[in-house]
Amino acid sequence: MRSHSVSAEGGASAVLYPKETGDSLDLHAYDTVKGSDFLADQDAVELLVREAPKEIIFMDHLGVPWSRDEKGRILQRPFGGMSIPRTTFAQDKSGFFLMSTLYDNVLRFDNVEMLHEHFVTSLLMDHGGVFRGVTAIDLRTGEFKVILAKAGIIATGGNGRVYKFTTMAWSSTGDGYSLAYRAGIPLKDMEFPQFHPTALVPNGILITEGARGGEGGYLINKEGERFMKRYAPSKMELAPRDIVSRAIITECMEGRGFIDEESGLCYVLLDLRHLGEERINKRLPMIREIAIKTLGIDPVDEPIPVRPAMHYMMGGIHVDLYGQVMLDEDKTRVPNLWAAGEAANVSVHGANRLGSNSLSECLVWGRLTGEAAAKYAMSAPPDSMLEYTGDIATKVANEESRIFDKLLHKEVGAENPYSIREEMNRTMDTYVYVFRDKSGLEEAYSTIKRLRERFPNVRIEDKGRYYNTNLRDVLELDFLLEQAELIIVGALTRTESRGAHYRLDYPKRDDVNWLKHTLYFYTTDGPRLSYVPVRITRWKPEERKY
Ligand SMILES: Cc1cc2nc3c(=O)[nH]c(=O)nc-3n(C[C@H](O)[C@H](O)[C@H](O)COP(=O)(O)OP(=O)(O)OC[C@H]3O[C@@H](n4cnc5c(N)ncnc54)[C@H](O)[C@@H]3O)c2cc1C
Repeated sequence: MRSHSVSAEGGASAVLYPKETGDSLDLHAYDTVKGSDFLADQDAVELLVREAPKEIIFMDHLGVPWSRDEKGRILQRPFGGMSIPRTTFAQDKSGFFLMSTLYDNVLRFDNVEMLHEHFVTSLLMDHGGVFRGVTAIDLRTGEFKVILAKAGIIATGGNGRVYKFTTMAWSSTGDGYSLAYRAGIPLKDMEFPQFHPTALVPNGILITEGARGGEGGYLINKEGERFMKRYAPSKMELAPRDIVSRAIITECMEGRGFIDEESGLCYVLLDLRHLGEERINKRLPMIREIAIKTLGIDPVDEPIPVRPAMHYMMGGIHVDLYGQVMLDEDKTRVPNLWAAGEAANVSVHGANRLGSNSLSECLVWGRLTGEAAAKYAMSAPPDSMLEYTGDIATKVANEESRIFDKLLHKEVGAENPYSIREEMNRTMDTYVYVFRDKSGLEEAYSTIKRLRERFPNVRIEDKGRYYNTNLRDVLELDFLLEQAELIIVGALTRTESRGAHYRLDYPKRDDVNWLKHTLYFYTTDGPRLSYVPVRITRWKPEERKY
């Protein structure tokens, strides 16, 4: 339950009432493809929109308390970039209700064993490209374990913590990306972190898009103006996230933002006052509570300060349409390994995710990969998969030595890991944010490379076994530094602007050269980049206007 999903707020998208609302699967697919700036794989988008309604109803039957109207019908609200309201929600605590319901239901099954508080440190792949299991530390005892398996699913979430100003949980350190990458599995489109326009200043806590879109909040600059009319006149505050984020930062750069005295951050205001206390209490109770408790501002009486924050990783582990992990551009699959949720890049979000499509993706590919992995595990793979000898035993021994000899029990180490993390965060917040350019990205690249060179000399003060969070933080820092480098290398290489990746020195989308996905392969000298085409089924790329 200590996942990111419990803090998802706004809801999950699906076409539930096509007859009454005029919505359709085609419209949901088109909005998603257009929102993605045409980088989404369209067959994956079509699969998402087709399966999502069933999963929403399934979750309803499991017990999720979706918000409803007076007649008991499940409510839906609009999110950015949607033609028709289709975000299904449970107040502003949708993720919490989904996760509690799933957790409660899993407890009904005696044959599900949960390994709580186990921190996975490496993925075990044999020479034949078959997944064999993982190594992990039981944080409660400090015991190093080998967990062998006939099949696996990587579902380790995103990597918001590469940045300092992020809406994402402390657990979002992108471990699964690095676990896969180091095991020889390519990552895809890592140059596309998404920045959510409305994070609370200065703490970065998310103010759901439901507040701005669904419930009708206004964005206001220092001159009291609803400035979105300059950037997306027809959608206003309901434009997609990349456009609203750029609008806010442009307002700041042109002197129409406010400055937070404590952090020095520039922000604009989100005004909810016109919604009234009753509606805020009914639809956005958590937002009100967060603003009061963390800033002493009651949104019923005062607007709240917001600016864009790192919020989601659109890139991820290279998988096929059904979430099966791929080892090369498009031929070789790992027969018994899948990835799902934010860890995976099935490519439904392309260069810019539409809000509420991620929970739907988690539900749809959670089922698809879960069923496929279970089917594989039960279909007679040899029991010898559950023994480890040869190269797997060597990998286990190397991993144990990496963690315990080279990091934990090393006598001296001059570097403070928390200072390295701070500098990485500052660098990413400064140079790899909503607007990027060559010189800033090069500066970021050389800083991160220097930090990576310093990493082997980190000092772990806590040598204890039980709940050694100091050791865990260092292992996560190693992953984070690697991903910071990948994000920067991808951003430097992609010489165009598309979705959330905006290059001031290449401000136009370039379909001739860049209508393609980036793949990142591990080499000891840094990532090797390769490219695969975008799968286009029905919607030809067009100019994106809102
Ligand atoms: C504040 C916020 C609100 C959001 N609201 C919405 C919304 O309303 N609608 C929407 O569609 N999307 C939303 N998103 C995005 C969405 O919540 C996430 O993309 C989604 O919840 C990710 O789910 P996941 O299962 O892939 O990962 P997570 O929920 O992050 O789960 C990953 C799990 O893997 C575990 N893990 C990680 N590393 C290791 C390791 N090394 N060893 C063992 N375990 C590990 C973690 O502890 C965690 O339990 C929101 C995002 C944010 C930041």
